[in-house]
Amino acid sequence: MNKHELPKLAYGYAALEPHIDSKTMELHHSKHHQAYVDKFNAALDKHPELFSKPVEALLKDLSKVPEDIRTAVRNHGGGHANHSLYWKMMAPNSGGEAQGELAVAIGNEFGSFEDFKKKLSETTVGHFGSGWGWLAADAKGKLSIFSLSNQDSPLSQGLSPILAIDVWEHAYYLKYQNKRADYVNAIWNVIDWKQADKLYASAFKK
Ligand code: MN
Repeated sequence: MNKHELPKLAYGYAALEPHIDSKTMELHHSKHHQAYVDKFNAALDKHPELFSKPVEALLKDLSKVPEDIRTAVRNHGGGHANHSLYWKMMAPNSGGEAQGELAVAIGNEFGSFEDFKKKLSETTVGHFGSGWGWLAADAKGKLSIFSLSNQDSPLSQGLSPILAIDVWEHAYYLKYQNKRADYVNAIWNVIDWKQADKLYASAFKK
């Protein structure tokens, strides 16, 4: 039985400066994400046979998760999966525009990269309360943009997440305070499009 663990970052806490500040990265990863991992593990302790399943598998079929821990898996398992994706989606010296098949799909679905960027930014900034802005793909590769509250995952709707923008206040408040739009605007400078294209390819090549 292996408990879930906080994933190591592929870069240092200061690597995304000035867009995402070092202190926010450190607290967000070592405290907030760690807390989701710990509470997810605590829930699974009640049904240890579920430790053998990846968190994504549990989120894909929440109705099969025992009812007494379903909400905890949705919230804390969701928090673990969402943050794991968030760290991977970002990288130093990145940004720019989408590439590969994802770039083609974005053009087909949203018209242009600029239109896509505007739509995802507006959806994310406009989300009421805590939650995430999402770019997700269905099994045919069709893209969609939406926001979800709390730590809900697109996986629970049968979709594969491609980009995840955390708009809980802990993701930006130290540096951006109430200016959520400035944080969302800044995050475009650190998106790793190679990683996003890889995720997009795996979304419909299964
Ligand atoms: Mn967060």
